[in-house]
Order: sequence, then structure tokens, then C-alpha cells
Amino acid sequence: MSTLFISHGAPTLAIEPGVTGELLTRLGQTLPRPSAILVVSAHWDTRAPRVSVASQPETIHDFGGFPAAMYQIEYPAPGAPALAQQVKTLLAEAYPDVALDPLRGLDHGAWVPLMLMYPEADIPVTQLSIQSHAGAAAHFALGQQLAALQDEGVMLLCSGAITHNLHDFFSADRHASVLDYVPAFSDWMGQRIAAGDKQALLDYRQLAPAAARAHPHEDHLLPLFVALGAAEKMGKPERHQPENTYGILAMDTYVWQ
Ligand code: ZN
Repeated sequence: MSTLFISHGAPTLAIEPGVTGELLTRLGQTLPRPSAILVVSAHWDTRAPRVSVASQPETIHDFGGFPAAMYQIEYPAPGAPALAQQVKTLLAEAYPDVALDPLRGLDHGAWVPLMLMYPEADIPVTQLSIQSHAGAAAHFALGQQLAALQDEGVMLLCSGAITHNLHDFFSADRHASVLDYVPAFSDWMGQRIAAGDKQALLDYRQLAPAAARAHPHEDHLLPLFVALGAAEKMGKPERHQPENTYGILAMDTYVWQ
């Protein structure tokens, strides 16, 4: 089964899907259909790992100042409580404080890509949180604990951004010209991923060009490390580079299968 890292871009990807949306729709149509999906989104950040056990997760509109249409969108996929229990079991030894959350719904890091990939909303889905205080290596290790799910028909959908500087984002528009640091950083990551250079990737903050500019905070890159850990034995992923939006959001997506 496939493991993905998706750059989810601005929430308005939902209503302005563009070529990134076309890519995600094509992936949904061509990848093997999963029995359930585990999303690791940058937008659920907790001290210790939490897994949603909601049977019908609500659509969380976790953003402000966007067009009214954005707040009307619902993604009514069923939850995946059995998968959530399984995730908790897989993590329990390494993370004794892992917890199930009966109320957590789907944030936009989950439902925006999902509505483009699986618009019928008919595949059970649950979310696992990140721990932004813990860093890249901890998320690689978290992913390693989840690798067994790939043999059971579960898609691991890790959703963040390959570049994510909100200060730069709020001073740009969707079609702004691309700032130099964006391809410098995302191509360095792409080359190191293609080379399987785990150590360099874990040290990206010291080694990658403009790492601190590309990610003033690590939260949106940490889902990538979960995917890298989970897919450690799956070989080289496909890298898709549909576009750059707002001059600063490279929309790179990686697919391991
Ligand atoms: Zn985001």
C-alpha cells in the first residue's frame, strides 16, 4: 500500500485546485484503493501522540479570513476507530502516553487533499498527531513504528509542506514569482530523498540551503519524516512537483509504493 507526503498548500486549494488538485485527483484514481487512511497532518500538534477514534469525524474549518465557501465544505468520510486502536497498539511500547481522542475531527491538512483524492468520501479515515517539540528524528522513528500498516491495505497520508514560511505567504499572492530559496531548499530535499541519505535529511536544519527561511517552524515538514520512516524499506519515491504557489509554497508530493 502507498505512503505519501503531500504539500497541502493554502486551504483554498479546496476551491482553487489547479494543477496540484489535478495531481491529487489522478493519484486517488490510480493508486491502489486503500481499506482505510491514516493521516498525519501538520495541523494537529500535541505533546504526546494522539489518534482520533471518532466514528464520524467532523470537518474542522481550522483557518480564518478565507472566503465563506471554505466554511461550507464538509468531508463526511467515516472514521476508522479500529485502525486508531491498531495505531495505538503499534505505538504503545515506544510511546506509553499515546492516547485515543474520541472527539477529534479532520483538519484542513487532512480533508483538503482527501476531497481532491477521494471526493466520494467513502474510505474510512483517522488522524494521528505530530509533536512539533520533538524534531525530525523523533518523527522518523514514529513513522518506523507505523510501517506494518502498509501491509494491511492502509494508506499513510502525511500532509504538510515542503516549504512553509507564513510571513512570506501573507505578503504574496497565488501567482507571485518564486523566491530563490524555495527551489533551493525543495530540490536539496528531493536530491537527498532520491539518494536515501537519511542522515543528511535528519540534519536538514544544518545542511539544507535556507532551511530556517523555508521552515521558521518545523511543524509542516515533520509529516515528511513520518513518511520517510514508514517507507524506509520501500525504496525511492516518485517526486511530483506540480507548481509553486504564492511564490513560496512548493507543492512537492512524494509517493512511495
Ligand atoms: Zn498547513
